[in-house]
Amino acid sequence: YPVENVRNFSIIAHIDHGKSTLADRLLELTGAISKTECNKQVLDKLQVERERGITVKAQTASLFYRHEGQTYLLNLIDTPGHVDFSYEVSRSISACQGVLLVVDANQGIQAQTIANFFLAFEAQLTIIPVINKIDLKNADPERVEKQIEKVFDIPKEECIKISAKMGTNVDKVLQEVVRRIPPPNVNVEDPFKALVFDSTFDHYRGVIANIALFGGQVHKGDRIVSAHLGKTYDVNEIGILRPEEHPTESLYAGQVGYIIAGMKEVKEAQIGDTLFLQKHPVEPMPGFRSAKPMVFAGMYPVDQSEYSSLKSAVEKLTLNDSSVTVNRDSSPALGAGWRLGFLGLLHLDVFNQRLEQEYDASVIVTAPTVPYKALLSSTKSIKEYGSEDITIVNPSHFPDRSQVLNYFEPVVIGTIITPDDYIGKIITLCLNRRAVQKKLVYIDDHRVMMKYLFPLNEIVVDFYDQLKSLSSGYASFDYEDAGYQPADLIKMDILLNGKPVEELATIAHKQKAYTVGKTMCERLKNSIPRQLFEIAIQAAIGNKVIARETIKAYRKNVLAKCYGGDITRKMKLLKKQAEGKKKMRKIVLHMKMMV
Ligand code: GDP
Ligand code: MG
Repeated sequence: YPVENVRNFSIIAHIDHGKSTLADRLLELTGAISKTECNKQVLDKLQVERERGITVKAQTASLFYRHEGQTYLLNLIDTPGHVDFSYEVSRSISACQGVLLVVDANQGIQAQTIANFFLAFEAQLTIIPVINKIDLKNADPERVEKQIEKVFDIPKEECIKISAKMGTNVDKVLQEVVRRIPPPNVNVEDPFKALVFDSTFDHYRGVIANIALFGGQVHKGDRIVSAHLGKTYDVNEIGILRPEEHPTESLYAGQVGYIIAGMKEVKEAQIGDTLFLQKHPVEPMPGFRSAKPMVFAGMYPVDQSEYSSLKSAVEKLTLNDSSVTVNRDSSPALGAGWRLGFLGLLHLDVFNQRLEQEYDASVIVTAPTVPYKALLSSTKSIKEYGSEDITIVNPSHFPDRSQVLNYFEPVVIGTIITPDDYIGKIITLCLNRRAVQKKLVYIDDHRVMMKYLFPLNEIVVDFYDQLKSLSSGYASFDYEDAGYQPADLIKMDILLNGKPVEELATIAHKQKAYTVGKTMCERLKNSIPRQLFEIAIQAAIGNKVIARETIKAYRKNVLAKCYGGDITRKMKLLKKQAEGKKKMRKIVLHMKMMV
């Protein structure tokens, strides 16, 4: 295919605005898939995506489109819309020259519409606004056009109004992709140069890397080099994705496809890496900024004997998802494990679910925490921690106030879009979360966009759910990293029968210490089943206990039931008690602490 006939584009949108449905229609129209009911959201391949109805992983499909006597090669990359996965969006975008910005005709612009728009805008891509779901009874495409004009400064004449569900105007979308999006600016005569923008691991075939060719051509059997490690490989298989793998003999500049070259190691197919021919080395491309984890949690095998199989599962899954950071960690009760960093809580949840479903692994996840920082004061503590400026991702490593000049907490700028009826309630919610308002503007007659500076730990867990419920589901939320601010932090220990349980310690803001301690004790009380012995649950800061709950023992003294001689029965009962304790430990650690 001549480069002039290639178009690379992504579909971006707020969650549920219809990206995957539109992708299905485009695939059908171009004959990549047949028009059957069972092909709903075909690009959502993962089990977790199908179960949750969300797109987690960006997927690629090459389409052949005949238009005005010419055949065009359209490379479509479907992207996820949830805030935790915006990193996937920015990666997909780097392989594109244009995007379809899908907006629901009923809901209008939402928080992630704005975030995604700016990703494409900053990458200087052609943006085609598509107003979807015009078949809905409450659709108001004219209002959405006005919003698009006001917020994005895109003339309303440029909007395409469609129904992805019914197929209305979808052919117009393809025509406009060809007309408005420029072909990639590349040359087939240049040396081969490809960007790895995604990679997956296959149990049988090893690493399958998704690549975009920024120059030259590659053929089966070529010897290639990956710039990052400088290792050499033979190209075993190349091809395009339609969306299933479709092997070809060659790939040319401007195309998007996959490559299998005997890479077996997790680190060999780094996302953002450049591939080139051994005989024609090229300057590597800049690659990607690495994703910054916002939430950390400990992950441990339920049984230490499963450590090595879990290790390999975690490694393989992180190859599919390079935004997860992995560090070894250990805990007194749980043994050897890892401290993993995620982009958000949904990300953590999805990772956990994928471990279970795709690798059959069972894991214990400890309470999530955000990365705090401390500036240490004493030379002794600086020596102990190895640096003056430290990041704390595990509450049990929290340095004592006596060793610290200043603590810092991560902050984010949050964008909320809501109908104006809910402004009052939302402002109260934000104030309770120690947030500072930065902006409030109307985006049309009834909708406002608010910007707040939030401490990250105040929004990672249940903020979104509360926002949704107090706005009857109408408000949307997105956030971006905004660095750190000084904060008065304390470490809260949880004691069970007077013994601190390291895995339950948390870091909290002083202002919230009492509430956090009280809630934790109550939650633990409700989740630990009654035992044969009494359990005292205490929350303490240093030596000061600030909250307490008690779980009463079963009233019966079980041992009284058996008379002296029956030693086996007595042993059995004692064993049961020990198992009860073990079970309790597991329950406590399984709990995701909502603090
Ligand atoms: P995504 O999260 O952006 O990928 O959204 P999906 O494609 O998964 O669609 C979300 C929901 O909206 C699904 O229930 C779709 O059936 C529905 N949907 C998508 N397009 C349309 C449309 O044009 N009209 C109507 N009525 N529903 C649609
Ligand atoms: Mg989707």
